[in-house]
This record gives sequence, structure tokens and C-alpha cells, in this order.
Amino acid sequence: MKQNVLSIEAIETGTVIDHIPAGQGLAILRQFKLLHHGTAVTVGFNLSSRQMGSKDIIKIAGIMLDDHAANRLALFAPQATVNDIEAFKVVRKRALTLPQTISEVFCCPNGNCASHGEPVNSRFYVSTHEGETRLRCHYCEKTFPRQLVTEV
Ligand SMILES: [Zn+2]
Repeated sequence: MKQNVLSIEAIETGTVIDHIPAGQGLAILRQFKLLHHGTAVTVGFNLSSRQMGSKDIIKIAGIMLDDHAANRLALFAPQATVNDIEAFKVVRKRALTLPQTISEVFCCPNGNCASHGEPVNSRFYVSTHEGETRLRCHYCEKTFPRQLVTEV
């Protein structure tokens, strides 16, 4: 078990995104363009977690996520926590709330939707139903479970 303790290095200031479901870490890195900030990003995949079995962790040195970005994260990992780090200490732990709408990130699964083939950005209204995240398309007004909606 020792390697799980050593696998992620502490950061002085920045953000630690913890409790990401195993396998979602890469999607988050890609969506948030975390590798383009020019800062050090450390990622741990499939770390053991007492709560979750296994999880991914992302540490971003020198970057604080704003609430808008943190809430977008909830669409990928609703149970994730965002820890703000200063002087190697967690100064704030943020639980995530789903945004009300999301644009540009997802593609409508409805092949006949007007958002395809038009020069428009996708746009979805976010809701939850019995613990499941749902997205309703602004253009065709159909509702889809989050896991059926793929990223652009
Ligand atoms: Zn649509």
C-alpha cells in the first residue's frame, strides 16, 4: 500500500481535485485543458480510496478554480471535492453544485437535433432526477441521462 501514499506529491499552492471516480480523471484533464496552463499538473489514477474503492486525483500547482469551473466539474464527477491549497495546507474544501446550464462541452445525442450541422454551440439545461444527472437540449428539448451525452 506504500506506493499509494507516495504517488502524489504535495503542492504549495493550487488546487487538488479529489474523489474523482476512477477513469474520469482523463476526461477532466481534457475538458478543462489543464495541461495547457503551463503549470505542473500531477495526476493519480486508480488510487485506493476507503469511500470509493478506487479514485483518480488531480493536483494543479498555482491555479485556483473559480466556482464556475468547479461546478462544471460536477458534470463529470458530482462527488468530487475541490481543495484549495495554500502553504501546503488545505484552506478550503468545496463541495460541488451542478451548474444550471452547460454550453459547448457536450454534443446532443439526438441525430436529428438542430444543433448538428448548424454553426451553434450546444446548450443543455441541467437537472437531477433520483440522483441521476440529466441534460435537456436547448434545441430539440429532449432530455438525456448525463452518461449518454458525449463530450464534443
Ligand atoms: Zn438536441
